[in-house]
Amino acid sequence: MLILMNVNATEEQIQGACKRVEELGYRPHPLPGATRCAIGITGNKGAVEADSLSQLPGVAEVIAVSKPYKLVSRDMKAEDTVVHFANSDATVGGGELALMAGPCGVESRDQLFRAAEAVAKSGARFLRGGAFKPRTSPYAFQGLGEKGLELLAEAREAFGLLVVTEAICHESLALVDQYADMIQIGARNMQNFALLKLAGRSHKPVLLKRGMAATLDELLMAAEYIMSEGNYNVVLCERGIRTFADHTRNTLDVGIIASVKKLTHLPIIVDPSHAAGKRDNVVPLARAGVAAGADGLIVEVHCDPDRALSDGAQSLYPDQFDAMVKNLRGIAALVGRSMYEPRPASAAVAK
Ligand code: PEP
Ligand code: MN
Repeated sequence: MLILMNVNATEEQIQGACKRVEELGYRPHPLPGATRCAIGITGNKGAVEADSLSQLPGVAEVIAVSKPYKLVSRDMKAEDTVVHFANSDATVGGGELALMAGPCGVESRDQLFRAAEAVAKSGARFLRGGAFKPRTSPYAFQGLGEKGLELLAEAREAFGLLVVTEAICHESLALVDQYADMIQIGARNMQNFALLKLAGRSHKPVLLKRGMAATLDELLMAAEYIMSEGNYNVVLCERGIRTFADHTRNTLDVGIIASVKKLTHLPIIVDPSHAAGKRDNVVPLARAGVAAGADGLIVEVHCDPDRALSDGAQSLYPDQFDAMVKNLRGIAALVGRSMYEPRPASAAVAK
């Protein structure tokens, strides 16, 4: 169920409707839109008594949402969600293509800082890098843990980047929440419902990656878990799925972008690195993602990928990343997106 308020409904009327929803034993989720506010209702097992809500002052209509996902749905909010970050004018989902880049994992200060400096210079506004790595083998590099988060926080200050990093369990989520600007939930945890609920209680935006075998509905329901806990700043990420094709690590499902745009107001970005698995294939997939309407990219970049402790084969060299960003400007312009213009190093020094 969803309450659509009148275009000119007052704040008092919105509060009144929310209060009534609570009195009925449900949870109200007011989401302001460009022209009017909608209030999602969750916590109901069956039909909500629509009559007792439709007569309230300021209420235009009470409508049933047929989809299993409600807060995520375009019915709830017609306009695209634009995710904002504290102390930054960077956004995801607005007109500007969001660029997130950095190493797969944080390995050392030197490794992270070199990559961070390079991607910032090329125009990335977000630094990626895992401090907690979900690895197939228990013997593989698991990440530096809290030390990695401290380095990410240092790099944020040094290069003016926002930090996006993965949480893999309750303990790491509490730490990531403390240090990062955006909490990444990885493909392997897309249906870790306890973790999703916890991310939903955070005040930080969440980057939710599609599970390797997840359908669009399952991805949207995972996002619904986060939103149902009160965190409405969710960004979806297509990172390739498992198919019979073995020429790439995963098959990038470019088609999901248009479907996502139709069904939900949430932004979606593309991870061409985990889809490609091979450095040479990353750039064409990144181009395809932007051309198909993605709101941004998350790309692995490493200065010495042959010595990387994870995902070196799919990591771009900084000069490849730089060339890719320059090349994407043309595609971005064609699909009506702007791209952040990094200040030339000389100008920064002159100031
Ligand atoms: C990552 O971003 O390094 C990662 C582990 O991605 P995914 O969860 O998509 O495999
Ligand atoms: Mn990786």
